[in-house]
Amino acid sequence: MGGRPVPCYEKPERISAIERALMDTGGHRFMPVREHGLRPITDVHEPALVDLLEHVWTDAIASGATDGAAPLIPDTFLVGPLAAGGFGGEGTARPARLGAHCLDTATPIVAGTYLAARAAVDVALTAAEIVLDGESLAYGLCRPPGHHAAQAMYGGYCFFNNAAIVAEHLCGTGATRVAILDIDYHHGNGTQQIFWERSDVLYVSLHADPARAYPYFSGHAEETGGGPGRGFNRNFPLPAGTRVDAYAAALDEACATITDLDPDAPLVVSLGFDTYERDPIGDLALTTDDYARIGAMIAGLNRPTVLLQEGGYAIDAIGANAVSFLSGFGA
Ligand SMILES: [Zn+2]
Repeated sequence: MGGRPVPCYEKPERISAIERALMDTGGHRFMPVREHGLRPITDVHEPALVDLLEHVWTDAIASGATDGAAPLIPDTFLVGPLAAGGFGGEGTARPARLGAHCLDTATPIVAGTYLAARAAVDVALTAAEIVLDGESLAYGLCRPPGHHAAQAMYGGYCFFNNAAIVAEHLCGTGATRVAILDIDYHHGNGTQQIFWERSDVLYVSLHADPARAYPYFSGHAEETGGGPGRGFNRNFPLPAGTRVDAYAAALDEACATITDLDPDAPLVVSLGFDTYERDPIGDLALTTDDYARIGAMIAGLNRPTVLLQEGGYAIDAIGANAVSFLSGFGA
């Protein structure tokens, strides 16, 4: 950023910190993860993206594009006039093709990326099935996160869109009114893009105003969906320094949108803690205690709920923030 290298804030310690904090409460059950195969992923993402993520690392090693120590980050992007007519692509080496399917330079691919992204989807779908089987609440500790991943694009630390895959899975069980509430600091551009023209999935997001915050090009209030999806996309951009009272006022409105929809499937929550006051990449001002209030407001919707971990990079506080949030659910 600004010509300076910045660390990759999305790291394994985030999830182990949450897990440890939840274990310390002694009040939660940890469930085994079930494998779901590729089908739920290709129901949402284009085969070209899935193929790329599966094979690009081994291709890059074979061709010498990486020595195995350096991550893969594209340097040439399919933008503007270059993108006209789409991208046929198969003749282009996968490492060179990364820039046709990537939003940014902040999402390195390493040896384990594909398997990790697959595992995060399995975690999300397992959480959804636990709720479909009758539990009122399940929390998928997904890593990598998902909400920036679009049909054919990865980026923003996200590869497969865990929440969108769960929502599509719920539609596959016969639901016609599915709601995704996204309370990560960043706008979930991927989720918005995937369901943009859909009236069976409502996407509601509270996030930092894209005028100043990633992903910059989506998340404005006037983006309300297209075609049959018009009115089924709601964005609540927030100013820097937003504290809990102003946040709760926006969340109240977001929750009312969900109540109006009256979903016929469990509520899907994209849960990020990068709204925390000391998050290294956020600028909102929520405290650990505030997450209990936010959790209670979402619990007040009184619906079976699937929580899916998105962002949150203040590792020393992320566990306490998760515990506080769950306390709002009485969990
Ligand atoms: Zn985020």
